[in-house]
Amino acid sequence: TKYVYAFAEGNKDQKDLLGGKGANLAEMTNLGLPVPPGFTITTRACQAFLETGANPPELAGQVGEHLAALEKTMGKTLGDAADPLLVSVRSGAKFSMPGMMETVLNVGLNDESVHGLANQSGDERFAQDSYRRLLQMFGKTVLDIDGEHFESAIDAAKKAKGAKNDIDLDADDLRDLVKTFKKIIVDETGQDFPQDPRAQMDLATQAVFESWNAPRAILYRRQERIPSDLGTAVNIVAMVFGNLGPDSGTGVAFTRDPATGRTGIYGDYLQNAQGEDVVAGVRNTVALAELENIDKKSFDQLLGIMSTLEHHYLDLCDIEFTIERGNLWMLQTRVGKRTAAAAFRIAVALVEEGLIDQDEALRRVTGDQLANLMFPRFGSTADAKKLTKGMNASPGAAVGKVVFDSATAVREAAAGEKVILVRRETNPDDLNGMIAAVGVLTSRGGKTSHAAVVARGMGKTCVCGAEELEVDQKSRTITAADGTVVSEGDLISIDGSTGDVFLGEVPVTDSPVVEYFEGTLEPGENDDLVQAVDRLIKHADSVRRLGVRTNADNGEDSARARRFGAEGIGLCRTEHMFLGERRHQVERLILAEGKEERDAALAALLPLQRGDFIEIFEAMDGKEVTVRLLDPPLHEFLPDLTDLSVRVAVAQERGEATEEDHRLLDAVRRLHEQNPMLGLRGVRLGIVIPGLFAMQVRAIAEAAAQRKKAGGDPRAEIMIPLVGAVQELELVRDETERVLAEVGAATGVELHMLIGTMIELPRAALTAGQIAVAADFFSFGTNDLTQMVWGFSRDDVEAAFFSRYLDRGIFGVSPFESLDVEGVGRMIRIASEEGRGTRPDLKLGVCGEHGGDPASVHFFHQVGLDYVSCSPFRVPVARLEAGRAAI
Ligand code: PEP
Ligand code: MG
Repeated sequence: TKYVYAFAEGNKDQKDLLGGKGANLAEMTNLGLPVPPGFTITTRACQAFLETGANPPELAGQVGEHLAALEKTMGKTLGDAADPLLVSVRSGAKFSMPGMMETVLNVGLNDESVHGLANQSGDERFAQDSYRRLLQMFGKTVLDIDGEHFESAIDAAKKAKGAKNDIDLDADDLRDLVKTFKKIIVDETGQDFPQDPRAQMDLATQAVFESWNAPRAILYRRQERIPSDLGTAVNIVAMVFGNLGPDSGTGVAFTRDPATGRTGIYGDYLQNAQGEDVVAGVRNTVALAELENIDKKSFDQLLGIMSTLEHHYLDLCDIEFTIERGNLWMLQTRVGKRTAAAAFRIAVALVEEGLIDQDEALRRVTGDQLANLMFPRFGSTADAKKLTKGMNASPGAAVGKVVFDSATAVREAAAGEKVILVRRETNPDDLNGMIAAVGVLTSRGGKTSHAAVVARGMGKTCVCGAEELEVDQKSRTITAADGTVVSEGDLISIDGSTGDVFLGEVPVTDSPVVEYFEGTLEPGENDDLVQAVDRLIKHADSVRRLGVRTNADNGEDSARARRFGAEGIGLCRTEHMFLGERRHQVERLILAEGKEERDAALAALLPLQRGDFIEIFEAMDGKEVTVRLLDPPLHEFLPDLTDLSVRVAVAQERGEATEEDHRLLDAVRRLHEQNPMLGLRGVRLGIVIPGLFAMQVRAIAEAAAQRKKAGGDPRAEIMIPLVGAVQELELVRDETERVLAEVGAATGVELHMLIGTMIELPRAALTAGQIAVAADFFSFGTNDLTQMVWGFSRDDVEAAFFSRYLDRGIFGVSPFESLDVEGVGRMIRIASEEGRGTRPDLKLGVCGEHGGDPASVHFFHQVGLDYVSCSPFRVPVARLEAGRAAI
């Protein structure tokens, strides 16, 4: 097996094998861009190592051959005492995992070659600094020594000297630090730092392999749904130095602004520094535009390369580069992460520039991003007390209590608090806290710092580099420039779109994208974003095959969903019409004894239902409205048995209990169920309580007749819930048809309505061929179907044990959120095929929560459903994803 590739041997499409970084280094090499020479050890080698705990036997030889070739190209030998070749050992997985895995720079330095480096560079300080960096990174990464040991040694050295910055330490100080670091290594590991350059390189490679399974990397992958068996590649690259003096430096650049998507010059530059200094956010950088004043030749060359890359990749690229004594080197590029707003703006801008077509633009945005743009933002901030303005690292409006560490963030969030994680700078160990927080605020680091990159990836609001704030982790306070002190637990508001930080709670308002869908947008500064959304959603509408309906049970929601583009109602839950005061009417019905009481209860409900339907038919005039007959688990309408027992017992004690009390208690006891979700609900209720479904059908029919007489176009469909056997459906269907005919005759209005069923029990899915005989349509109730297929109580499990299941990787996401394609999806496929086998024109839809979940929408498209139905706010998301599924 070939485990090692020279850069010239690969290309950008080999991310599986070479990792993202390796594939793109290869691509840039072949584009003729200035990439330092090097080679990539493949993910396959890493997989073999992780599986067996040892390198594949042929690896050492292949690395040796490529190292020899590299030495030949460079005219230097690795770690040579007189003129050493130095290399970096860099991780690079298929998917970028910012800051999660390891890198070791300056490999090849030892007690001898450090002198060679000093002579060759003519810079003793630089050579010693490079050596101490190697010892530090090697110590932390390869030898697992707590980084604090090295940090405090540096602090001590600076203190002894009265120096503020690392830069103020001179060659002698650094030589002493090298000694100290070597001693730390011996003390902590019982062994000397390995002097053999090749051994350094091999050990560093192995450490990178092992970092794939570091806890923070595992957590990150779970969050980002990255498979755990991919492994990482390792890139061995000839070192170029950004820390050779003021004519050297290192930076990060974006071909467009990853926060807004707009064109311009975006990035950070740090003079006289090595790569990790920028990304780690430990020193404050200058804006990339400043580089024009520092080194115009490199700046112009960089802009040229950025344009080349964007035209080659046809997308936003981000770039890491180093300037070594006026020579520009490209260390990395990739198609860059971006915010939701940037994704929409860039996709449409690239269409306008003629670089991609509309289908491709649609592929470049996601329903999750659109949902993100529909989040509220801060309204007027005129009255708010502004603490400072930092960098707008990841947009959104977050209000929460200040917490200063990850553990507190996790604890408070678990207790239901909204928290904002405030740190000087974040590091990968803060990941848990960042996940738990609603927003992240740091006082140091640029837009490419760890906090910024990770927050953007998670779609979490982040303000970084708020330098005026003094964050004191010890006293757990933030002090603003004007002396205002904010303590842990105080409320602050952070605006990730502007970088503003406010004391207290700032009220939030609707997003312009929501206003656009509502049709209430005034022309304003966000217009180009709204135009981009408009263009892509319209394209999605023009290519999608799936219809998009909404779940709504009142006129207001129906009207809003319609404005959002809903093409009808896929689920009108009639039990929602009986909440609040009307609950007692249903209670009366359930407890009724004898026909007379029951008829009276039904007669009282009829006009209420009819009124509701008239309102909905009016809001959805001309569109299908699927009305589902009553489906409450009984307990939702009856008093709690325990509460009631206590109440009656107390009343009894006082001699105040009435006949009525006892009657109610008896009935509730009789109807009490151990498993209400598996009990008397859905079609079972319709069969057990005579006249209930007939009353509902009558209300639907009378409402439709009335709307028709008023010149409207009501299009009701009647849906029977929780059917498990065709016999149940046939009984209800007969009754429904009878009532429709009666109302038709009485009103003189022709009432034709489809009668169909939900498929939400495994038995229904497995006997769909029979059920289709009596059904004009199926609508998959994936909430119940998931509950019943897995045997998970939908009301209990998410709180009870899903977090453990997610931690243990049993599933990556709750099956109630995103459809379990293998299990529940298989049921849907079987039912669709067998239903259509019986009745080829059978209409198929889905109305469970999954109807608005992006991944699930793609499955529903594939399996051939006619429409999805989801809550009003998810309607635009479903439209977009249905379009994406179709291209
Ligand atoms: C379902 O079960 O998926 C469904 C839509 O019905 P409900 O959520 O009302 O049970
Ligand atoms: Mg259901």
